[in-house]
Amino acid sequence: MSKPDLNCSFCGRPKPETQLLIAGLDAHICDRCINQAYGIIQEEASEEESEELETIELKPPKEIKAFLDTYVIGQEASKRVLSVAVYNHYKRLVQQKSKDDVEIQKSNVLVVGPTGTGKTLLAQTIARLLKVPLAIVDATVLTEAGYVGEDVESILSRLLQAADYDVSRAQKGIVFIDEIDKIARKSDNPSITRDVSGEGVQQALLKLLEGTVVNVPPKGGRKHPDQKFIEVDTSNILFIAGGAFDGIERHINKRLNLQAIGYKTTIKQNKVDKENMLQYITPRDVRSFGLIPEIIGRLPVLTFMNPLDKPTLLEILTSPKNALTKQYIHLFEMDGIKLQFTSGALNYIVEKAMQYKLGARGLRSLCEAVLNDAMFELPNSDVKELKVTKQYADSKLSKIEIPKLKVVS
Ligand code: ADP
Repeated sequence: MSKPDLNCSFCGRPKPETQLLIAGLDAHICDRCINQAYGIIQEEASEEESEELETIELKPPKEIKAFLDTYVIGQEASKRVLSVAVYNHYKRLVQQKSKDDVEIQKSNVLVVGPTGTGKTLLAQTIARLLKVPLAIVDATVLTEAGYVGEDVESILSRLLQAADYDVSRAQKGIVFIDEIDKIARKSDNPSITRDVSGEGVQQALLKLLEGTVVNVPPKGGRKHPDQKFIEVDTSNILFIAGGAFDGIERHINKRLNLQAIGYKTTIKQNKVDKENMLQYITPRDVRSFGLIPEIIGRLPVLTFMNPLDKPTLLEILTSPKNALTKQYIHLFEMDGIKLQFTSGALNYIVEKAMQYKLGARGLRSLCEAVLNDAMFELPNSDVKELKVTKQYADSKLSKIEIPKLKVVS
């Protein structure tokens, strides 16, 4: 006996007109209505996602800066500028959702400063504060492959990896592009000797910085073996570019000299601090160095890092939340050993780092060299206390060739 005519309980279509009719307890649903319902679920989910975006707590710049202070020593100017840039970036995300008329430009940042002064650390600390994924990429890698487009996408593969392939998290993440100065145009920058066209890479980066949808190959994407490309929208990704820009002081100096000749002088030449020229940097100097104007325009926030002097290095050694000395004290504590550093020892380590131009990165290698014997000998011994004095540090460091110390990053 044939069943009575069945209809979809949602759209009323009779069974023969459907491709599929699924029976529930007292109702039926057809393939078309299933698809429609699925669309509604997706829409709801994406609305929830944007609500989530809006609920990102907008921390005011002073709070952002206070958080940066716990990890990054000194660098007051950069920390202030970055705190505002991050605050505005997230304001922009919230505002976009309410479709305001005034469109806020992205506040991507360019940080200029010598290596080892805390540029990467700043980006890492911001990502830690916002609890967003962070990808650290090296611009020099981008020059090495032939097809630049593909390489630029690899930046986003990294970010996807950092976000554990959660596209919506990746789209709110931070990308730190290190060594951006190495893709400067060669002609203006005699220090670049490799035969690669930095300008091509700069062009490829433009769209990414401004905001575009990119098809990203999920490199090493174990979780998506069947998925060829993932679409990533870069409009809400905060890009922080950093570089040492070796020799840019020359351009700054030249510009300041020219200004001094003209009558519109802003900084009196005799007041120029020749030891720290970077503090006077302007986008014009970055342009003379060889970044194309379009790239500079898409990195509208420009800031600089100070060289690390002795008091700063001393503070780096002892005061950040995860300072090196605190880490070693903790490591020894786990073996029941009380570790102490005298101020003489700390000064001595910092002096060695300065003397051999090892910077903040060198502090770690120096501490390792000083403490390695103790870390080998003391566990399981009767010794329950170690006081590192200047003499102790000297006796350990004199056994090694400091210039050959591998600088640990
Ligand atoms: P950069 O990116 O400028 O080359 P990094 O941020 O990688 O330098 O710094 C290298 C290491 O040196 C960091 O991991 C950190 O331990 C230390 N360091 C550098 N600058 C600072 C700073 N201003 N405050 C605290 N630690 C710092």
